[in-house]
Formats: sequence, structure tokens, C-alpha cells
Amino acid sequence: MLTLKNIKKNYVLGNQTFKALDGIDIEFRKNEFVAILGASGSGKTTLLNIIGGLDRYTSGDLIINDKSTKSFKDADWDSYRNTAIGFVFQSYNLIPHLSILDNVEIALRLSGVGSVERKKRAKQALYDVGLIDHIHKRSNQLSGGQMQRVAIARALINNPAILLADEPTGALDSKTSEQIMSLIQDISKDRLVIMVTHNPEIASNYADRIIRLVDGKVVEDTHPLVSNTSNKEKDRLELKKVSMGFLTAVKSSFNNLLTKKGRSLITMLAGSIGIIGVALVLSLSTGMTQYVNGLQSDTLAGFPLTITEVVRTNTFGPGGGNSPFASDADIATEFPDEPIIYAYDELANTTIHTNVLDEAFLTYLDGLESSLYNSISTTKSLSMHILAETSLGTYTSISTNQSSGTMFGSSSLIFEVPNSPDFIQSQYDVLAGTYPNEYNELVLVIDSNNRLSVEILEALGVGIEENYTFNDFLGKTFKVIPNNTYYTENNGVYIPQSNQEDMYTSSDGITLEIVGIIRVNEAASSELLSTGIGYLTDLTDHMLAIESTSDIVTAQLNQPNTNVLTGMSFNTQVTYDQVMKTIGGDTTPTGVQIYPVSFDAKDEIKAYLDAYNVGKTQNEAIIYTDTAETISSTISSLINTITIVLAALAGVSLVVSSIMIGIITYVSVVERTKEIGIMRSIGARKRDISRIFNAETLLIGLASGIFGIIVTLIVALPANVIIENLIQVNNIVILTWNNALLLILLSAMLTLVAGLIPSRIAANKDPVVALRTE
Ligand code: ADP
Ligand code: MG
Repeated sequence: MLTLKNIKKNYVLGNQTFKALDGIDIEFRKNEFVAILGASGSGKTTLLNIIGGLDRYTSGDLIINDKSTKSFKDADWDSYRNTAIGFVFQSYNLIPHLSILDNVEIALRLSGVGSVERKKRAKQALYDVGLIDHIHKRSNQLSGGQMQRVAIARALINNPAILLADEPTGALDSKTSEQIMSLIQDISKDRLVIMVTHNPEIASNYADRIIRLVDGKVVEDTHPLVSNTSNKEKDRLELKKVSMGFLTAVKSSFNNLLTKKGRSLITMLAGSIGIIGVALVLSLSTGMTQYVNGLQSDTLAGFPLTITEVVRTNTFGPGGGNSPFASDADIATEFPDEPIIYAYDELANTTIHTNVLDEAFLTYLDGLESSLYNSISTTKSLSMHILAETSLGTYTSISTNQSSGTMFGSSSLIFEVPNSPDFIQSQYDVLAGTYPNEYNELVLVIDSNNRLSVEILEALGVGIEENYTFNDFLGKTFKVIPNNTYYTENNGVYIPQSNQEDMYTSSDGITLEIVGIIRVNEAASSELLSTGIGYLTDLTDHMLAIESTSDIVTAQLNQPNTNVLTGMSFNTQVTYDQVMKTIGGDTTPTGVQIYPVSFDAKDEIKAYLDAYNVGKTQNEAIIYTDTAETISSTISSLINTITIVLAALAGVSLVVSSIMIGIITYVSVVERTKEIGIMRSIGARKRDISRIFNAETLLIGLASGIFGIIVTLIVALPANVIIENLIQVNNIVILTWNNALLLILLSAMLTLVAGLIPSRIAANKDPVVALRTE
């Protein structure tokens, strides 16, 4: 069943060829005890390794079952070793971190035997060699003779047809040697045993057949077999395909990790650092994004959609557009070196779009579903003439030629408060008095530090002091002077009166009173109003009603070609419409603010406004500004930038920790070289070896990932508390289940990839070389 034909084995060292085996011809019987005798270096081990399929011959042939092995693939050799061959070595070659039972079982694992069957057979094998009482010990807790018995039990567990023993008693005392030898002799009763020894006494005492080797040549064979075709058929070797399940690899790796708890723990920690970094960044970004979204839908949702009469959009870079001055090419770079100053036309860089807020549009706006908005407020450019009495008894005039007091328009000291009291009061606290309700009631807006600028104080006619009480302002009155009192006609031109006292004391003046003081609250997303005096839309409407019939308006209506304020005809800069709006003869608004009820409602309003533009030319289109979006998109892009930078940093740590795991795995491969050799000798395929290491890195990756996620969850708790104390935003570190799972998978993947190269190196190790390493 096993025949060696002219087997040669050469080792090439440098340019010298060394013949370890030089033409070996032996044929073995199915059932005999062969001793191969020879001096050290005569090639005994080499011969045994070639017979066992652990090493490859250089030339000649090894015939198994009448079949040449020249065309054997790795897989064929693997199954040959696993099912037909049992190896016993001089140095026992047990795997030190496994128990005795596991050492024996491992050969069965490799051939895919189920666990119950495995245990039963391993115990039986250990019973047969007389070690049943020691099965839970580690190999380093046994004597030499006991270790060799374990090795024999392991070699026999698959019931191989051939047992190969390489000086099995070489390291044992003579008494133990005798016991082991009689055990092997027993075994040889029903199989082929080929034993290598340099001890002629042992050979002659136990073996049926002695083959003497000198310098790689057979010099004596005491009982040669002359081929006899008749008995060949029943001498066939059974060769089965072997395979180890991945689960088995995982279990065995898990055991290995457990035996090296300290190292496994450190590896896991190293791997988790990167994961913790990435998890924290992801959580932070998730939290911040949720915060911004919350901000948008809660607070920023209240911010108006603004439509102003004039929209400026910068569409060109510096000096661009159709400027007759410097061209783009001239000023292509920032911070030029030449000592030249360029002229450029700012207006050429700006596109001005005029929103036509005519009746048609206002009517269209009336059609907007009223449940979508809190209020629609319109700004008018009516100029009001307001007088205040100073602390010195003199008078001061406060001009309001426009009424947008929001931070997004230009500001004046006295302004119209957007017509959305609920929204304003959600952003502002009333510190004293009440929020105005009537047309003649005013509100004082102070900043978050309770300050009012000197400029405002002077304009209000208040003497400058270091500080004031709320009552210094509550109840303070002003007078609005109507056109008929304010203007005096002179040759068709209307000139403002100069005597302020007369105006103030005139009975036509309308008294306004500060009834409340408000300040932006802590929760507000931004300051909607500038500081100063605010009045209600009601006042504008009240005044427009009065002024529409005033003398100056009537006069302007009657002579539409002449500007009644200057007596000159209208030029392009000042138009009839503008003058009429200023003096109160035209109620068309110059701006519209729509206050949506919610974030979703805002989207619907936008869609409604967009629908107005359908079929209209560029010039007729209405362009609106979404203030909230401007604010939140700035924040969002900031968050994105921060996230990318942090993620890059965390990514680097992830890569570093992966490389570390790769290195640790490589060290483990080097450390376990011997074990790899042993595994190969008992039939492990290359794939089984790489599986074991891959399973190990996978386990470490999973553990790192899970550990990293746990640490992140733990760190998130105090981090959230600290951040809440610092910036009053709660739950900014949020680890979602998706992200957690994703990161665990990522960790497992990365470590697996990092371990691929070391595990390949392990799989490709030459089993003979691996066995020789100590
Ligand atoms: P034995 O087991 O009879 O003591 P070996 O079979 O181990 O002898 O070795 C036979 C000869 O082959 C020895 O001279 C040894 O030095 C040589 N040899 C064995 N393995 C190698 C190798 N990997 N590279 C080079 N020479 C080797
Ligand atoms: Mg040897």
C-alpha cells in the first residue's frame, strides 16, 4: 500500500547541493513494525517526513494505493496526513496552552467530527494509553512519558493506518522507554508503524523489520517486501476529505485568546481606541445635527420668510461683471504684490432684484392657507415725525423713515415691531409693564446685558446717567406729529416746521407711551429686534388713515409730475411712488414678513410663494429670504466641517490601531510557529491555519468594537452633563443603535483585514521548518 521509489531529497544551500536522501526504495506491508536505524544526520527524519506527507521529495515517487503522488495537490496531502497518518515526535509536540483532552481532540476537530463524538473518542484514546485520570491537566503538568502517551493518543485518535514515530523514546529514561515501546508494539499489531531510532537495541527488541540508513541510502533491510500483486487490493488506504468548520476555528481561537488573557485584553484595548474616537465623533455629530434640526423646527421655525422690495445679490467676484474699470484678469489674485490700487464699481457686482409687491401679489398672499402662519406683517415706508421732550425742557425729533426694526433689515431707533406678538413674546421676556396692545402704546427693547446705547438715550431726550430704573422709561411719552401740523406750504412746496415746541404742544399731536420693557430671553435663537423703541403695526395703520387725506398728499396727487417736497420734477432717483409712500398717500408695502406656525408649514408657504412665480418673467418674480435657513445652514456647514476634521483624526487613530492589531497578530503567528507545524502534521490544511488566525482577529475586532461602544456610552454620560453645564445644550453626544452596530462591524472588518497578511504568512509556513522551531 505504500511504496518509495528512488526517493531523493536535496537541500540546496547557496550553490551547494546536499543530498539528505539519495535514492530510497522501500515497500511497506499493511501491518508491520519497521524500525529505521541510522546515525544522526543520516536522513531518518527527512525520510519519515516525506513518508508522512509533511515534506516533499525532490525526485523519485511515493506510491500510495498504487497511485503516484506526483500529481498530489495540497488538499490531497492534507487528507492523507489527517486520515492515514499519525505522527509521534521525540519532543512530543503538544500544544502547551491546551488541556490534554483538547490536545487529543484537535485532530478530530480538523476532520470535522462533532463535539460529543469527539469527547468520547478522545477520552477512549487517553484511556487506552493509561492517562484517563489526567485529561484536564495542561501538557506542562505531565512527565515526559505521560506527554509521549498523549502524543500517541493524539496520533491514534483518527485510527490511522500508519503511525510514524521519530525517536519517540529519545528523551525518556530507559524504564519509561520500555513502557512506551511496548505501547507502540501493541499498536503495531493492527497497523503499519514506522519508527525512527538511533538505538539498535530498541530496534532489535521491538521491531519486525529493521532498515538501516547511512548517508541517505538504505544499506540494510532485514525483511524486505517483494511486490505481490495478489494482496494489493485489500491493502488499500482509506483517504477521506477533511475539513474544519469555521465555528471550530472560532472556538479554538477563543480558547487561545482565553489562555493569553492579558495580551488579548491589551490587544482589545488597542483596537478599541480608534473605535471610541470614531464613535464619539459620530455621536457628537449626531447630537449636534439633532440639536440644529430641533432648533430649526422649534425656534427658528418662528422666524419669518421675508420679502423685501429690493433684494441685493452679489453675483460677481471683485471687479467683475460689466464694470468699465478693472477687469477680472487685472485682479485675479488676492493680496497682489504690485503697488497699484484698482477702481471698481460696486454696483456692477451686485444684481438688484425688485420685488413688485403690488395688489396682485398681496391678493395672492391673501389666498395663503391661514393655518400655516401666525401672522403676515407688512412694512410700509411711511415717514413719521416723532418728538420727545428732553430732561432740559427742549425737544428732540426722532425720525422713522422706515419701519423694519429687525436685525435683518437696517435699524432705526424707533421701529415697527413685527406683527406677531406671540412669536415676539416667545423670544422676548417682558421685564416690566406689559406688551403693547394699542396703537399708541410703545415698548422699550433693551439688550441681553440690560443696556441701551447713549445714542438711543440722547435721541429719547433722556439725560445721560450711569444707570436707570425701569420706571425712568415706563410711562415716558412721545408725540407723533401729523403731516398737516408738520409741513407748511410755501408756493406749492411743503417745508417742515422749525418750531418744535409749537408742534409738540399742538393739539393735533398723538401721544405715545412706553408701556413695557422687553429683553431677549436666554432660549432665543437670535436677537430678532434691535434695541430702541418699538411700535405696533396699528400705529402705522392709524397714521396712514390720517395722512391719506392730509394736505401734502392731496397736493401730490394733484400734481404727479412735481415733487411737493422739493418743488422739482421727479428724476429717476426719487419717484412719485416713493414720495407718496413716504408721506402716507400710498399704502403699498415695501416689505412682507410671513411668520410660519411650524417648520413644515414654512415649507408649504415656500411652495405657495414659488407657485406665484410660475409662468412669470425674471423681473416679475418674487424672491423671498428664509432667515432661519440662513442661520441654520451656517451652523450646519460649521458642524459638518468640524465633524469632518474630527472624523479624519479619529480615522487616523482607527488605522493606527488596526496596524497595531496586525502587528500583534504577526507576533502571535511567530510565537505559534511550532503550533502551526504541529497542526499541519496532524492534518490541518493551509486554510485551517489561516482560519484560526482570522477567527482570532475577528474575535478581537468584535471585542474591541463592543468594548469601544460600551466605553463611548459610559463617556457620553458625563460628557453630556459637562456640555450641558457649559453651553446649556443637553444630549449633544448621542450614539444611535445603527452607528453602534456599524462601528462594531467596522472594527471586526478592519482587524480582520489587518490580520489577513499575518494569517497568510502563518498558512504558508513550511510545516517541517515550523516543527523544527523551538
Ligand atoms: P536525522 O534525523 O537522521 O538525524 P535529518 O533527516 O534530520 O537526519 O537530516 C538529514 C540531513 O539533512 C542532515 O545532514 C541535515 O543537516 C540535513 N537537513 C535536514 N533538514 C535540512 C534543511 N531544512 N536544510 C538543509 N539541510 C537539512
Ligand atoms: Mg532526526
